[in-house]
Amino acid sequence: MSFNALNLPPPILKGVRAAGYSEPTPIQRKAIPIIMEGQDLIGAAQTGTGKTAAFVLPILARLLQGPRRLRALVLTPTRELAAQVETNARDYARFTEVNVGVVYGGVPLPPQERMLRAGVELLVATPGRLLDLHGRLALRLDYVEVLVLDEADRMVDMGFAPDLRRILRLLPTDRQTMLFSATMPPELNQVAKEALRSPARVDLAPPSRPAAGITQAVYPVPRNLKTDLLDEILASIDVRSMIVFTRTKHGADRVARQLGKRNYAVAPIHGNRSQSQRERALGDLKRGRIQILVATDIASRGIDVDGISHIVNYDVPHTPEDYVHRIGRTGRMDAVGDAFTLMSPEEQKDFTAIERFLGRAVPRVMLPNFDYKMRPREIADSIRGSERTGRGGSGSRGKGSDGGARHGRSSNGARGHGGGRSSHGSPSGGRGGTSGGQGAGAGSSSGAQFGRRPKTIRGVDRRRGRL
Ligand code: AMP
Repeated sequence: MSFNALNLPPPILKGVRAAGYSEPTPIQRKAIPIIMEGQDLIGAAQTGTGKTAAFVLPILARLLQGPRRLRALVLTPTRELAAQVETNARDYARFTEVNVGVVYGGVPLPPQERMLRAGVELLVATPGRLLDLHGRLALRLDYVEVLVLDEADRMVDMGFAPDLRRILRLLPTDRQTMLFSATMPPELNQVAKEALRSPARVDLAPPSRPAAGITQAVYPVPRNLKTDLLDEILASIDVRSMIVFTRTKHGADRVARQLGKRNYAVAPIHGNRSQSQRERALGDLKRGRIQILVATDIASRGIDVDGISHIVNYDVPHTPEDYVHRIGRTGRMDAVGDAFTLMSPEEQKDFTAIERFLGRAVPRVMLPNFDYKMRPREIADSIRGSERTGRGGSGSRGKGSDGGARHGRSSNGARGHGGGRSSHGSPSGGRGGTSGGQGAGAGSSSGAQFGRRPKTIRGVDRRRGRL
């Protein structure tokens, strides 16, 4: 199916072609006709599925006609996502006269007030800043015809539900509303009931299914050795661009500092960083000036950097949904990527919950030459975790996962001899794992080089810093 079949006006089709899209993604195919009809919609789709164009293109089609005033509002949980949606919208609108604007907190108000006075028809905003600007009479919401709540579950998570309700009261009741969310927690369900009228539902890529092409693996490791293990993993793979997730801002700063000391080109990104620091870090990752971004979950929303090759969960995420969101940063669209989780014994329970949610086990991987300083009993327990979950796993993946676990055990047995070395390299759990490491690594995009310890990762000399 081509975009031509979607009845979009010619200047918008031209924008889509200029963006390099040849055919609509599944969410675009399903949602665009519904939105063009003017119906309310709930889209269960994550970032990475093409959902932004799914709602922006029909909005632009509507804005081509009619008065030029603020008629479409997109609310997002974070500044990064707001900036990303605005950039995409500007791209698609580049052959139209539609003015697109963005407002978010953490930056001075006057330039945003000036931009609003100059006039925008499509505004992307974070809820708090929108209310501030409305309080200062910088904008009117009475002519808004279309409202989008983007990553709505995250907005509710972040405590924006009262702000959303306040905004809903300021908008005309006669409007089209769309809500995009990966999950539907009860509080969001309540907001949805208040905001939407007889919505159509487009259910796509439920969060329990990470995009194909992502290879996952778990590295059991004591908490205090996580940075050392990460260093070891980094030395054994070819890292183009990596995001390391931590649970806390403090953790993100600490890990970034530790990796920096080991001469990796790295920057942290979280809520305490200024807007310009965050933008610089993202820009640097995009341009390849840094290889590693250390991020908290909230800061990661809206990160849209093509071709992220690796995701590392430095901490096991709080919820299975966070896990899927995090690893969704790699393997976007048709790309492939690896997602590794460093799991300390205390985090095993949380990870088991994630595996239950995924419906299958994620293979355990041990680095044979790494000194885990763990008692064999603890290691065996970590590995057994995956086997227990693996039993309920689906078909061949479940089997492969078991294989991964077995490799892990044999590598443990052979520790100190370099045996089972290819256990690192079997995160895809490709084969049934019969003998210590034999054949592992098939189908893995990361492990082939194990055993070599390269002195550089792209652009970085591990001993002397940036090249
Ligand atoms: P989103 O889910 O909106 O964040 O989009 C994820 C990525 O897919 C972005 O980098 C978009 O530029 C890209 N994208 C969106 N629609 C298409 C399409 N039809 N074909 C190719 N890439 C797309």
